[in-house]
Amino acid sequence: MNNHPAVGVEMRGLRRSFGQVKALDDLDLDIRPGELVALLGPSGCGKTTALRVLSGLEELDAGTVSVGARDITHTPPNKRNMAMVFQSYSLFPHLTVTGNLDFALSMRKVPRGKRQAIIDEHLELVGLIAQRDRYPHEMSGGQQQRVALARALASKPDVLLLDEPLSALDAKVRVQLRDEIRRIQQELGTTTLFVTHDQGEALAMADRVGVMQAGRLEQLSTPRELYERPATEFVARFIGDTNELPGVVSAGGVLVMDQWVPALPGSIREGRGTALVRPERVTVTACEDHVDGGAGKMATVRQLSFQGDHAVVHLAMAESAQELTAFVTARETAELAVGTDVLVGLDPLPVLVA
Ligand code: ATP
Repeated sequence: MNNHPAVGVEMRGLRRSFGQVKALDDLDLDIRPGELVALLGPSGCGKTTALRVLSGLEELDAGTVSVGARDITHTPPNKRNMAMVFQSYSLFPHLTVTGNLDFALSMRKVPRGKRQAIIDEHLELVGLIAQRDRYPHEMSGGQQQRVALARALASKPDVLLLDEPLSALDAKVRVQLRDEIRRIQQELGTTTLFVTHDQGEALAMADRVGVMQAGRLEQLSTPRELYERPATEFVARFIGDTNELPGVVSAGGVLVMDQWVPALPGSIREGRGTALVRPERVTVTACEDHVDGGAGKMATVRQLSFQGDHAVVHLAMAESAQELTAFVTARETAELAVGTDVLVGLDPLPVLVA
């Protein structure tokens, strides 16, 4: 349906300050043709500013922005061929669904005779063809956001910009729309930048996730890579949960809980440090199941919280009273209760040591 080839985005050395605040501090960011990149980071790290710079709504102090081979650093927003979907659906309340799309196409100078086919095609895509004559107030939040998405895509943008598009929706609709946006984006192959503060959303939807901190990009990787191989301490702590365990690093590995585990690049090189270990990497075995000679340290279950598909187990190590959190499958919890003595170990997968 998207009959022009996807283009990539290149942002280089972006700087933008507001008074003393460096909203963007030498940010580099690439989006490959047809890719969905999500920007994630704590409040105020510069995500929205980066998106606004790409759209042309925010000016730069320094840096360049290119789309395809075209340098658009000084191109006005309406000449960039981009479309944006905001948190607030921003539909015209006095226009029907069709009217909203028609108006957007007329603004893009699409000839009147061609508009209806494009409108129908895109309403079909978001599953709202039957609601074409409704007004925004006659639709749910999720439906209104689909209209906003159809309107954005109907103009066949080179780049789709999504600025927290799911934040105003309730949990169930959020997940549905999240999956739907991803499906449609992949179907059309539209190059997309998505700004969110929701980790789950970013990891579920994006080809690559960029984690920002203080106006800079800490890491830009696939969701799995980001989670399993964080490049920096900030990323390891920001994404998911971590246990912080004392260890000693040497020769590319770390000795932690009497076990040798490989250390990720980005770890300290030598000496005492803190291994950042994901809770699902902690293995928990009930003492009576323990086979002699297996690895493990004694610990006691302090708290057990059942979550349906898994359980969160808080443990205290017998020797050191070090606290530890483990995620175990619901089945494994059958033998566990508060006060149970267990053996804990670590999966021998690489960890970051800070
Ligand atoms: P959030 O998740 O809270 O939306 P963000 O990561 O999107 O945050 P930005 O909105 O890009 O962050 O803001 C980055 C920094 O720049 C913040 O400290 C913010 O207060 C500041 N800032 C952004 N826009 C302006 C502006 N127009 N005037 C003054 N300061 C601004």
